[in-house]
Amino acid sequence: MRRVKFEERTAEEIAAARAERSLVYVPIGSLEFHGCHLPVGLDTMHAHAFCVAVAEKTGGVVLPPTYWGTQGHEGWEGSMLLKEDVVVALMRNVVEVLAAMGYEWIIIVTGHHPDVQGVLLREMAEEWMAEAKAEGKAEGKAKAKVLVMDPFAVQPIEPVLDHGGLVETSLMLHLRGDLVDMARLRTKEDAFKGVAESCVDATRKEGKVRFEGSVERLAAKVEEVVGKG
Ligand SMILES: [Zn+2]
Repeated sequence: MRRVKFEERTAEEIAAARAERSLVYVPIGSLEFHGCHLPVGLDTMHAHAFCVAVAEKTGGVVLPPTYWGTQGHEGWEGSMLLKEDVVVALMRNVVEVLAAMGYEWIIIVTGHHPDVQGVLLREMAEEWMAEAKAEGKAEGKAKAKVLVMDPFAVQPIEPVLDHGGLVETSLMLHLRGDLVDMARLRTKEDAFKGVAESCVDATRKEGKVRFEGSVERLAAKVEEVVGKG
């Protein structure tokens, strides 16, 4: 098994991994209310675990996850969603630093929906690449390519997305079952407030199928895109 977590490797190992494959994954999620049965960091933990599993197949390294996200269940207990421009500026700066380190492919993976965050990051990536290209022309330098990908877009079975429902609850049961409290759904009044009621049907087995299927599909997508250069 490859060791892919950036923060766990030495500087030398990071340089060697980059020489082998100039690819870095940047997971981002949110801190957001996810019902009475799920942890608020679900989107981020999922994005991080997903990047690690994909990188074990494709090579490259995975940055530590960014819990600071934007737009969603504002005002709900446990939600800490920052301003759009703060999150975009943070991620743009991360991209700049990674590009300066020499990474050719920077893949941002956002685990948070609605897709406002994804749209903003795609816009940022396009803008940054256009600017880098204009600059690179003058300097004659190769510049990084930035892609934004979504683990829910490659779910192997329907439905592909929900908030705290069958999809997210199953994924979390598989990834961190110790953090899921299914009993709360039976005992708490208003248990389904703010989440999809399909969460009661979630199983660890479904989470495993969903997670592994989406990892396969994204790894294939990355090989296709990155392979093309
Ligand atoms: Zn979520």
